[in-house]
Amino acid sequence: MKKNIAIIGSGITGLTIAYYLKKAGIGFRIFEKSNHIGGVINTVSENGFLFETGPNSGTLSNTQTVRLFEELSDKFELELANDSAKKRLILKNNKWHALPSGLFSAVTTPLFSFKDKLRILGEPFRKPGNNPLETVSELVVRRLGKSFLDYAIDPFISGIYAGNPDYLVTKYALPKLYNLEQQYGSFIKGAIKKAKEPKTDIEKKVTKDVFSAKGGLIQIVNAIIKKIGTENIKLNKSIGIIKNDNFYLIDGQEYSSVVSTVNASELPDLLPFADKNVLQDIVNTKYAKVTEITIGFKKWNGIKLDAFGGLIPSKEKKNILGLLFMSTLFKDRAPEGGALFTTFTGGIKKENLAELSEAELKEFLEPELKELLGLSEFKPDLFRAFKHKKAIAQYGADSEKRLAAIKKIERENKYLFLAGSIRDGVGLADRIKQATDIAEQIIAD
Ligand SMILES: Cc1cc2nc3c(=O)[nH]c(=O)nc-3n(C[C@H](O)[C@H](O)[C@H](O)COP(=O)(O)OP(=O)(O)OC[C@H]3O[C@@H](n4cnc5c(N)ncnc54)[C@H](O)[C@@H]3O)c2cc1C
Repeated sequence: MKKNIAIIGSGITGLTIAYYLKKAGIGFRIFEKSNHIGGVINTVSENGFLFETGPNSGTLSNTQTVRLFEELSDKFELELANDSAKKRLILKNNKWHALPSGLFSAVTTPLFSFKDKLRILGEPFRKPGNNPLETVSELVVRRLGKSFLDYAIDPFISGIYAGNPDYLVTKYALPKLYNLEQQYGSFIKGAIKKAKEPKTDIEKKVTKDVFSAKGGLIQIVNAIIKKIGTENIKLNKSIGIIKNDNFYLIDGQEYSSVVSTVNASELPDLLPFADKNVLQDIVNTKYAKVTEITIGFKKWNGIKLDAFGGLIPSKEKKNILGLLFMSTLFKDRAPEGGALFTTFTGGIKKENLAELSEAELKEFLEPELKELLGLSEFKPDLFRAFKHKKAIAQYGADSEKRLAAIKKIERENKYLFLAGSIRDGVGLADRIKQATDIAEQIIAD
């Protein structure tokens, strides 16, 4: 049968797969349940502000993302964050402190205890762990100390996963960190050795640079749409897939292969032919519920905004997880002299807050936001809340079972790929990497 691929979901994963299939001349159709192309990515322009309702930025952290953006560069303008993005603030005792970026600041920062500052000198000589299910908390306390967990890793985990480091397993949630210890015996030794390894031209372009696009992340979606066209994207389409001996049947049409990019809870309806017991190990995946709030001021007279933003450790007992200084990071996000922020509430540790309405959140968060932003009164020109019921998959100890179940279902159903954030990472760059790998597999097969 001629290759004809059904892609379920039009988020960045599905679109990236479609882009490479189109380039290789392989037929495809995207089935999207909602009326929006781009999945959780969406950029809105309102009242002089340009803001995201899903992801705010990504990192150029792998070659696949660098390559995709180079290939799309005739259709959108990549925007790298302002240099001040390198500075990240952490809240301690109601004051913002810069997260250390070098040895001197690491020694002088009030964020970490004196004991842990001394402990870090011993990190290269500490024995590597041997428990593949060690949580992020356990690993960080073992190698660096409790204050590093509380004032560096816990807020970082809030920023990426809206999660709990006591639940997340390092091997699955932070695989790069896990591999540094496993391969090199230490984070510090590993980072130094990795930096010295020879790199190809494209590897040299992999950086910690934070990206968006001129006009917001939706422009990346639009760039892919311009490349693949809209004729093969079916919107408002909830489907169930029928499996036949040699093909999959969707909406009366035959497909040689199916790639699912949807959240775990969608799979039972989508794949009625899959073993229900096995599928359950995927469906059980925990997700963080998050409400994303955009706050805009036409005239700014609060704290200095010379950073990426501020993250808030759980120990500080606040209701928001952190603040992104979006108008510092990227151009044209707020009127001249104004400011635009993104904040998040809810997450694994405070799920009930994600249930509040926009009006309730505005009233409830006012005192906290006023204090954190250094304002005498809280009168934003824009306050918008966006709920994400299943925002971020949490890679806990159940990941082993989940990954085994994915493999089993794929083995039992030839040419079916179970992709999306149920595996391989939750960031935009992770999604692009996974999509590129799957497209290459389909093209090569
Ligand atoms: C609030 C929020 C903030 C985030 N912030 C960042 C960030 O700043 N940086 C970063 O790197 N990452 C961030 N992420 C993560 C990142 O955005 C996602 O991992 C990524 O965009 C997911 O892309 P995807 O294509 O895999 O899935 P999705 O974007 O979720 O796309 C899946 C698509 O499948 C569709 N679908 C679902 N069920 C069906 C069905 N049965 N049939 C057909 N279609 C279906 C959905 O409607 C959706 O369009 C954030 C995520 C959220 C939710």
